[in-house]
Amino acid sequence: MTEKNTSADTLIRLSAAQLAEKLRAGDVTAVEATQAHLDRISAVDGKVNAFLHVNAEEALAVAAEVDAIRAAGGAEAEALHYLAGVPIAVKDLIVTIGQPTTAGSKILEGWHSPYDATVVERLRAAKMPILGKTNLDEFAMGSSTEHSAYGPTRNPWDLDRIPGGSGGGSAAAVAAFEAPLALGTDTGGSIRQPGAVTGTVGVKPTYGSVSRYGAIAMASSLDQIGPVTRTVLDSALLHQVIGGHDPRDSTSLPEPLADLVAAAKTGNVEGLRIGIIKELHGEGYQAGVENRFNDALELLKEAGAEIVEVSCPNFQYALGAYYLIMPSEASSNLAKFDGVRYGLRVLPEEGPMTIERVMGATRAAGFGDEVKRRIILGTYALSAGYYDAYYGSAQKVRTLVQRDFEAAFAQADVLISPTAPTTAFPLGEKLDDPLAMYLNDVATIPANLAGVPGLSLPGGLADEDGLPVGIQLLAPAREDARLYRVGAVLESLLEAKWGGPLLAQAPDLADAATLETQEAK
Ligand code: GLN
Repeated sequence: MTEKNTSADTLIRLSAAQLAEKLRAGDVTAVEATQAHLDRISAVDGKVNAFLHVNAEEALAVAAEVDAIRAAGGAEAEALHYLAGVPIAVKDLIVTIGQPTTAGSKILEGWHSPYDATVVERLRAAKMPILGKTNLDEFAMGSSTEHSAYGPTRNPWDLDRIPGGSGGGSAAAVAAFEAPLALGTDTGGSIRQPGAVTGTVGVKPTYGSVSRYGAIAMASSLDQIGPVTRTVLDSALLHQVIGGHDPRDSTSLPEPLADLVAAAKTGNVEGLRIGIIKELHGEGYQAGVENRFNDALELLKEAGAEIVEVSCPNFQYALGAYYLIMPSEASSNLAKFDGVRYGLRVLPEEGPMTIERVMGATRAAGFGDEVKRRIILGTYALSAGYYDAYYGSAQKVRTLVQRDFEAAFAQADVLISPTAPTTAFPLGEKLDDPLAMYLNDVATIPANLAGVPGLSLPGGLADEDGLPVGIQLLAPAREDARLYRVGAVLESLLEAKWGGPLLAQAPDLADAATLETQEAK
């Protein structure tokens, strides 16, 4: 077999960096690479349900454009972005021209944005074919993608289990080799927790380092767009594409971050102080999660890092504060879905046709239970007489969490914890128990409250159930580069320990591929 005949099966398993190298070397065309992923989507997405919309025609047109530029050579070919022609999936909370954006909600069914999010503009500028829009919990509220109005996404490791949430679609698409890269959004863990339970890498960048312009707002002071990938280097590459100042986002940082890709290639943790957060492991964490966490610590120690223990006593209140701040902001942000300006409009069945009643009928029919629960919670927390007791107290806790981080970062360069307390749980298990669902984010939420960056990478499989475990790294604000530096080292140590990338072992994927081959015959 010559290099030119790289099979579709091989193509979809390459990392984005490997694929970019093959494209540049002319071993494969962008159209071939894009088509291989579209074929994979057709073959497995009936089972996984990672995509709400597939954008085949446009993706192939962008790929063809890249191929034509490369074939012509010269300055334009030279100027192509490193990731040009590498396809990507986009969480359906991020607006795109030419494709629907639903936010996983009935209230936006069929809605098309008249503009692109800044991150999408940047993907287009890099000429990365956009494969489609991925499934999510409605308006990014949830930890399992079961709150999508369009049916749950399934975990490629075990189709009866959740892929995490809210960005289960992006994580599952990457884990199922339907896309090498995806974008997610993380308000309380929606990039990192899906990454943990699907064996993928997910990064919540420093607040303000990636533009939120065009990400449908859930809780504006917590939301952040970030990369979903299969390797740490790929996350750094994608982060670099989407990051940087944007005058259209008033919270956008003016200065660019340090070189993230260079950091991912540094390959050294010697002398680095890594802090175990006492409050974020142990009791309440699954034994297999704890074991993989300890393995990671051992490997980092062997590689020359200094492991210290830090205490963040106020983290125990972070979840409570989050579930006041987030619904408060969401109740305000979601007020714009009024049946007048966007998407769905439902008229009251009887009685007078006032604007309030149209709004009421539209919101009653258009929003799901979890969204309504949070709007009610947020409206209550913000109401006169309760504002100080609830919202005000939550904001004070937020300050205490920030101070805990400051104290911890005085003792350690990066912090480490399991990303989620358990591996992927069965679909339906926590659907009727909102508090049990909320507890999934106990380890991820502090970073959002403080605005600091976090990276989750696969730490191996849990002993009890053979499912992926995520390891979370946290760094001070603007020090995202440290996450890539430590993450890449830990990833290579873990791969050496497992004897290869974790995802190669995902059982249901192999079944899906076999099934497709059998059906094709
Ligand atoms: N699972 C968390 C929640 O339900 C986080 C959501 C998110 O990060 N978008 O709010």
